[in-house]
Amino acid sequence: MDDGTVYDICVVGGGPAGLSAAVNAHVRRKKVIVFGGRTGRPKVNLSPKVDNYLGFPGISGNELYEKFNRHVEEFKIPVVHQKIQNIGPLDGTFTLLSRDGSLYRGKCVILATGVTAHNLLAGEEKLVGRGVSYCATCDGPLYQNKTVTVIDYTGEGAEETNFLAEFCRKVYYLGMAGPAVEFIKDNVEVILNDRPVEISGDDTVTALKTRNRTLETDGIFIYRETYPPGEIIPGLEVEEGYIKVNRRMETGMPGVYAAGDCTGKPHQVAKSVGEGQTAALNAVAYLDSLELSGPSKP
Ligand SMILES: Cc1cc2nc3c(=O)[nH]c(=O)nc-3n(C[C@H](O)[C@H](O)[C@H](O)COP(=O)(O)OP(=O)(O)OC[C@H]3O[C@@H](n4cnc5c(N)ncnc54)[C@H](O)[C@@H]3O)c2cc1C
Repeated sequence: MDDGTVYDICVVGGGPAGLSAAVNAHVRRKKVIVFGGRTGRPKVNLSPKVDNYLGFPGISGNELYEKFNRHVEEFKIPVVHQKIQNIGPLDGTFTLLSRDGSLYRGKCVILATGVTAHNLLAGEEKLVGRGVSYCATCDGPLYQNKTVTVIDYTGEGAEETNFLAEFCRKVYYLGMAGPAVEFIKDNVEVILNDRPVEISGDDTVTALKTRNRTLETDGIFIYRETYPPGEIIPGLEVEEGYIKVNRRMETGMPGVYAAGDCTGKPHQVAKSVGEGQTAALNAVAYLDSLELSGPSKP
């Protein structure tokens, strides 16, 4: 679905960095949209007490995050509670594909996707696109009548498992997100109290080694808090796992900015909020420069 709207700025990630970027872009009268939102479980929510955010000594992470959200709601900034799977260029704009298959368009993108608490698995990087995937909606149909494994760190993988179970021969569901979940089909084998260790395969995935066993599998779908940044925008420059930016929060791609934990340490709320603002203001300057250099209006 693409309703034809072209946003000035698409913010990917609804944590402190993303919400700060959105508020600043809105104040500068740009048409902005946020992806991720509360479904993304931003990290600040996990902090029982944030003592180092100026002006709010002793506030809980949850309360602080609610204040950030209320600010965004007050400005009526649209928030889509879906993760963005892929971003690509299209006719001088960017197309963003969300996990439910919807398409959105924007002139600028601000990546504020945070970092994942879970490291990449051994063998994962080598086999991305060759059996390792982060999106069942996109790649699942390739595994008709095959065996796949879902590694779920966030709970998002449960719904995808039901989808995969409709056409895969067997689905292993390795749940690390907490309470057990129930599945519709009986071709799903739920594995709890175990951990993935290594993905193996020469050209394509053949197996997943866990702490307790080895699962023969043709595909592996992984759900973490965030995807590796280079997976979302192919060609994005990444250094030691972080998106490479300059002091203007520009990545090497014109119109693409990054802010917050995803650009590097320290992983802190104040740094994220500041970088979100910097990214938004520089994106606004970029949009204004495009308008000035564009075809003259009649
Ligand atoms: C237990 C704990 C305690 C902490 N305590 C403190 C503290 O006391 N003080 C302090 O300053 N900092 C603290 N931090 C760190 C702080 O929470 C982070 O630095 C801050 O939340 C980073 O903000 P962010 O917006 O960059 O990323 P995040 O808060 O991680 O938000 C990023 C969001 O983007 C979403 N996302 C990822 N990929 C996509 C995608 N493709 N599409 C859409 N959405 C996506 C994620 O799901 C997430 O919701 C703590 C962190 C933890 C875990």
